[in-house]
Amino acid sequence: MRGQTRDQDPTVVYLAGWGRSGSTLLERLLGELPGVTLLGEVVHLWERGLHEDQLCACGAAFSACPFWTAVGARAFGGWQAVDLDRLAYLRERVDRQRRMPRTARRRPDPGTRAEVEQYAGHFRAVYAAAQQVGGARVLVDSSKEIPTALTLSHRDDLDLRVLHVVRDARGVAYSWAKTVARPEAGGEPMPRFSPARSTGLWLSGNLTVQALAWRGVPLTRMRYEDLVADPAAALAEAWRALDLPGSPELPVRGGGAAGPPEVDLGPCHSVAGNPMRFRTGPTELRADEEWRAAMAPGDRRLVTAMAWPLLRRFGYR
Ligand SMILES: [Zn+2]
Repeated sequence: MRGQTRDQDPTVVYLAGWGRSGSTLLERLLGELPGVTLLGEVVHLWERGLHEDQLCACGAAFSACPFWTAVGARAFGGWQAVDLDRLAYLRERVDRQRRMPRTARRRPDPGTRAEVEQYAGHFRAVYAAAQQVGGARVLVDSSKEIPTALTLSHRDDLDLRVLHVVRDARGVAYSWAKTVARPEAGGEPMPRFSPARSTGLWLSGNLTVQALAWRGVPLTRMRYEDLVADPAAALAEAWRALDLPGSPELPVRGGGAAGPPEVDLGPCHSVAGNPMRFRTGPTELRADEEWRAAMAPGDRRLVTAMAWPLLRRFGYR
């Protein structure tokens, strides 16, 4: 179990949930709140940032980004000091779906605890350094993976709160079947999944998140559809539910009768994630409901049948 965190422990809002559920939009909106610094998917920092030197959301290569260079210097005395082989070994040991029966325990065996603490210690070092470099009160890690969040829950020197974002499984399945390019990887497209595969993963991702609550991590749920309909209200509700410091005042225009809400997205240093992390400037928020008209009826029936109990629990019809 987690102990009491202290004032100097970094406060991290971890976005959990299955991909294509609107977590990048949520992350970007959180980034417009005062006192919040976005980090992107820190779980992929080691491979995509450090090893492959992919693009930061600011447009610079990871190794040339001033923010990440400063974070690496503070966290490790330079990124070259990170033993990537050791980290990859630890990831296999503790940060995998099949390891969750061990990492989700309230009192894991000493061997697991030692490995989990060492593994999560790398993330903790990044968070603490990012908080100092960016001067933020709250950091956002949009890694989404539940096994990763479970490893973080073992660090007593980390103030971890989890925001679980869900979206209608039919919209998610429709999105996973489409082709999306990834500018940071030379235009190579994002992976695609069949509706059945996507929905199986949607189910497991959205069910296993409960293991975090079991381990005593503050957890709240947000629906993508509610976020897009009224972003300021959705963020304020999550802020309250997670008892976060400061006030979540989102600079948003329009909404309601005045048309779709619009937000100016500023630059950020998201290290890895959906291509939307590169976007800046005025952005209109519209629910992506294309699936309602365009999804093949057979796919829609299959996904509805598979996901029904959980869809209903999340308030979808
Ligand atoms: Zn950057």
